Amino acid sequence: MKIVRFWDGNKVSYGSLADDFIRPIEGDLFGEYAISNKSLGINEIQLLAPCEPTKVICIGLNYYDHAKEMNLPIPEEPIVFLKPSSAVTGPGTNIIYPHQCTRMDYEAELAIIMGAVTKNIEPEDALDNVLGYTCSNDVTARNLQPKDGQWTLAKSFDTFCPIGPCIATDISADNLSIKLMINGEIKQNSNTSQMIFSIPFLISYLSKIMTIFPGDVIITGTPPGVGPMEPGDTVTVEIENIGKLTNVVTLK
Ligand code: MG
Repeated sequence: MKIVRFWDGNKVSYGSLADDFIRPIEGDLFGEYAISNKSLGINEIQLLAPCEPTKVICIGLNYYDHAKEMNLPIPEEPIVFLKPSSAVTGPGTNIIYPHQCTRMDYEAELAIIMGAVTKNIEPEDALDNVLGYTCSNDVTARNLQPKDGQWTLAKSFDTFCPIGPCIATDISADNLSIKLMINGEIKQNSNTSQMIFSIPFLISYLSKIMTIFPGDVIITGTPPGVGPMEPGDTVTVEIENIGKLTNVVTLK
């Protein structure tokens, strides 16, 4: 199933997307729910970020081909940082270029959407707690990254975490093509099979540090080809079996 979150002009709902039509979900997406028989055209609604995370947990340097490109050693343990929930934005929105930023980069990443409260889980059980997967862009103010010794400034501006367009459930995410296009030109082109730390390992590792809640997002690192975005650019992250996440860079 492809789950979307949308605004119909009156309220926000979750829905099941198929062939450009959405059937609203009634009840609790993370508990008991039913899919209604009503059907809305995708052009009748506004898609939103497909979930409302309490936190976005981010992994740095997690692709073998990216480590090779950067001439960096393979990390022995995951590099972990956070983005605030206020950075999250949905498909079709603007990524705002902050005035403090002199270089803003894209990073296409696979996002894991958690489906259950997850604490101290082992890798062999981790996928049971995953709701599904979506596309994300780990937008980064590159010039600010070294400035504070942490990455919080560089990673946390409003709109610096586009996610969407849908949560693809019942898919395996360990061998998916992942691409990023700027104005239609391919800039990143790899496969999730290049990940250094696997999805079950990452969930287990993180769950032994912090409780992960339903709807929380884990973004899993970017493949090679990272580069800058400029105001006016249209940026698209495309992941096989999930879809395309498109945003436009603007000055405000
Ligand atoms: Mg990243």
